[in-house]
Amino acid sequence: MSEPARKIKESPKIGMVSLGCPKALVDSERIMTQLRSEGYAFSPTHADADVVIVNTCGFLDSAKEESLSAIGDALKENGRVIVTGCMGAKPEDITKVHPKVMAVTGPHKYDEVVGYVHEAVPPLHDPFVDLVPEAGLKLTPAHYAYLKISEGCNNRCSFCIIPSLRGDLVSRPLHHVLLEADKLFRSGVKELLVISQDTSAYGVDIKYAQSPWKSRKVEARFINLARELGELAKDHGAWVRLHYVYPYPHVDAVMELMDGHEAGGLLPYLDIPFQHASPGVLKAMRRPANQEKTLDRIKSWRKVAPGLALRSTFIVGFPGETESDFQMLLDWLKEAQIDRAGCFKYEPVQDAVANDLPGAVAEEVKQERWNRFMEAQQEISAAKLKARVGGTVMCIIDETDGAGGADARSYADAPDIDGKVYLRGAEGARPGRILPVAIEDADDYDLFGTPA
Ligand code: SF4
Repeated sequence: MSEPARKIKESPKIGMVSLGCPKALVDSERIMTQLRSEGYAFSPTHADADVVIVNTCGFLDSAKEESLSAIGDALKENGRVIVTGCMGAKPEDITKVHPKVMAVTGPHKYDEVVGYVHEAVPPLHDPFVDLVPEAGLKLTPAHYAYLKISEGCNNRCSFCIIPSLRGDLVSRPLHHVLLEADKLFRSGVKELLVISQDTSAYGVDIKYAQSPWKSRKVEARFINLARELGELAKDHGAWVRLHYVYPYPHVDAVMELMDGHEAGGLLPYLDIPFQHASPGVLKAMRRPANQEKTLDRIKSWRKVAPGLALRSTFIVGFPGETESDFQMLLDWLKEAQIDRAGCFKYEPVQDAVANDLPGAVAEEVKQERWNRFMEAQQEISAAKLKARVGGTVMCIIDETDGAGGADARSYADAPDIDGKVYLRGAEGARPGRILPVAIEDADDYDLFGTPA
């Protein structure tokens, strides 16, 4: 018996008109190369294309006329037209003649053009041809995924060599990030963990470049990233969790968006690597936002986002840290009521600037401070978890044992680094399910309960 013929889906087709000088031609080639690598095909006629791109030239009046006429032809023969190139630097010159063009971008805006094409006609994913699944290859369990929004870092913390290894901040265009998030959610991911070296700096390097998204233009800003990811997550009944955020003033506005632990969306959770609380130590560490009044900021955040869970990491025994610096850190910790904290004893890293700082702290002093820090944190954690007993908390299932037992995490717990919620009576629950859990017991770091 012969196999039934597999139905081959047709690649979406793009019409391309390239006008102007060799630089414009190279721009067109770049756009075409990107689109081809994403599975698009090219149509020799406008009529057969799904969308037409016109790369314009605006150098001379005659070139502008030619560009406008090429746009007119594409509109007449196809109707779906994206304009780019030199004339796009003054979009009104195009839209007043051709108000029906779908979008206009300026010269060298390859990513924006490709973004508009994705909006007009999404790339085809063919599971028989593509080696990589639509949502990419993942090493995490199917129900959660990390979403990297940038590479590198503009900060120069004295104990860190990441900027010299990975360079300055390079943010991904916003629509790339959002498209990846959308794919992940559509592939069944129920929790997205946003990561970078400095999430709150997102978009600074690309001057907050606009991206097309859902028939709008959205600037690559931290607040927009949080809002759009939160909205996408709501559409899919999923969670978004923000990691590596610094306490800059512009982070305040994100608190209002943190309403996601019930029906899905942006979680009231922030991972902020504070590292210390003493102004002297923070300055020696050259930490970003080291001048901010973080305690005041945390208090105001908790008013706007009740239930906000804060996770952080700290370093004790940094060169020059005195007993009073350390005591300041302990007092700060108790007042800030950080929900989850990791603590490291300072260790020199090869080539880090901090290696040359005076005031090395003896190993036994580091150990003693670490013990005191962990004791203080354990008390805070235990009291916070005890206060949850008798209440209901939204949790996500990570693993089940097939006999009603399950390992879950509350909205306040990121995978691997925070605590767990151990369930019984969770028959039928599957990894990735988000459900309310009645909390019955707690120890220093974990909770115990049953589905409510
Ligand atoms: S520790 Fe400082 S310099 Fe290193 S990656 Fe983080 S923010 Fe950037």
